[in-house]
Amino acid sequence: MSVTLTTEDLIIGGKRVPSATGKTYETLNPATGEVLAQVAEAGIEDVDRAVAAARQAFDEGPWARWPAGRRTKVMLKVAQLINERVNELATLESKNCGKTIRDATAEVKGVAMCFEYYAGAATKIFGQTIPVYGSGLDYTLREPVGVAGQIIPWNYPIVMAGWKLAPALAAGCCVVLKPAKQTPLSALALGQICLEAGVPAGVVNVITGSGPLIGAALVRHPGVDKIAFTGSTEVGRELMRMASDNITRISLELGGKSANIIFADADIAKAAEKAVIGSFINAGQDCTVRSRILVQREAVDEFTRRFVERVQQLRVGDPLDPKTEIGAIISPQQKARVEEYIEIGQHEGATLACGGKTPDDASLAHGNFLLPTVFTDVKSEMRIGQEEIFGPVVVVIPFDTEEEAVRIANSTIYGLSGSIWTRDIGRAHRVARKVRTGTLSINSNDSVHLEAPFGGYGQSGIGRELGMYGIELYTEVKNIYVDLD
Ligand code: NAP
Ligand code: MG
Repeated sequence: MSVTLTTEDLIIGGKRVPSATGKTYETLNPATGEVLAQVAEAGIEDVDRAVAAARQAFDEGPWARWPAGRRTKVMLKVAQLINERVNELATLESKNCGKTIRDATAEVKGVAMCFEYYAGAATKIFGQTIPVYGSGLDYTLREPVGVAGQIIPWNYPIVMAGWKLAPALAAGCCVVLKPAKQTPLSALALGQICLEAGVPAGVVNVITGSGPLIGAALVRHPGVDKIAFTGSTEVGRELMRMASDNITRISLELGGKSANIIFADADIAKAAEKAVIGSFINAGQDCTVRSRILVQREAVDEFTRRFVERVQQLRVGDPLDPKTEIGAIISPQQKARVEEYIEIGQHEGATLACGGKTPDDASLAHGNFLLPTVFTDVKSEMRIGQEEIFGPVVVVIPFDTEEEAVRIANSTIYGLSGSIWTRDIGRAHRVARKVRTGTLSINSNDSVHLEAPFGGYGQSGIGRELGMYGIELYTEVKNIYVDLD
């Protein structure tokens, strides 16, 4: 069966169903403005139905009761089906969120790997025996937390769906997933694949529609044991308040303004080359993006010359063209928001070194495109130096000393990722300890590894996804003491 959806109904209780009201909405291609599909618009009643299905599947169904190794097999089947449909899923993803087919293809393959990792993890979730003061036996169990409500953003729709579903399923949880309203298609396709792979009815439910309506209802729902959210800090803050009503467990992956710290002793050519992707991946709509480049003053001119030259060569265009490096921005509203920051930067006195406008190419006129934009002579305290822009805009901030670099790196409300470029190994590790952020890379801009923890310090979030840390989000620890007398 094809994952090209003939109907974009919800997934509830193992079935494709329209919304209770029958309402639908249009989902668009941000690169062309064309309507891609009609999608069921869920309401409160659908949230209730989906939570009830997940609740029943968890409380009475087989998923959490199966030997873990049986979940492994089903999850490996999910991975296999994803791998068989990479091109189809990548095209769907590229069309629905405007990202390049290159990136979408790699991302879909990454989701299959995520399922493979957590398929293996299912049989490695175990407790401890603890030598307590007493003659009995004390041990712990790691049990599934129950029904997980998961809310994800539009920038990496299928990746986020995979990161959320796979660890929850490995742990034995049942899930209600709410993708971003603008990008529902790949989450529905993945939910469909789960059904085809043999995930029992009610274990994976996918509801599409408005965050403030159905997302909020999911967070407040007494039938939900745990909320996992990826999105903006602003919405995360709101959800934390809502979750407090029922003391619902909540993990948050939020915004970022990560620093790429480049010391004068680094390989400047390599740092400049890698910064291009580090700063403009996914048209800058990436929470780990290095949107601040801190360069030691002696190297600023060389770095800026190399960097700006390479940024100007980036191919902005049709996301489905395999040569395209920068695709579309998700919506006209998001583009306008980014353009507003470009104006703010100019008013604040920063130098616009390149970009700052829509590409001239007439064939892109119906999409939401912006040229990759570099500001130099930026001061850390400027708004463009502090606020998450979430678009193709990067700022270059000069610094003099190691202490100053650390101070600037730590000067925002965020702390998600970052990079350090230097040939001095002592300095690399010293600075890595001082930067307050959840992931760091040295002489690299990679921050995401499926096997390693990912998450934020400060207002970038709470909790760690990926690796075995991801399992902790979906398990409770139960302590059991047995009297042996
Ligand atoms: P967003 O506005 O916070 O939305 C994220 C999700 O929350 C969407 O599904 C949205 O639904 C839903 N939502 C919105 N308002 C809600 C409410 N009042 N109650 C419940 N749910 C609500 O974020 P976005 O604009 O999609 O994505 C951009 C942000 O995500 C950036 O700040 C970025 O840094 C962050 N992000 C973080 C990570 C990470 O791992 N740390 C990864 C990716 C993105 P609708 O689509 O219907 O509005
Ligand atoms: Mg939003």
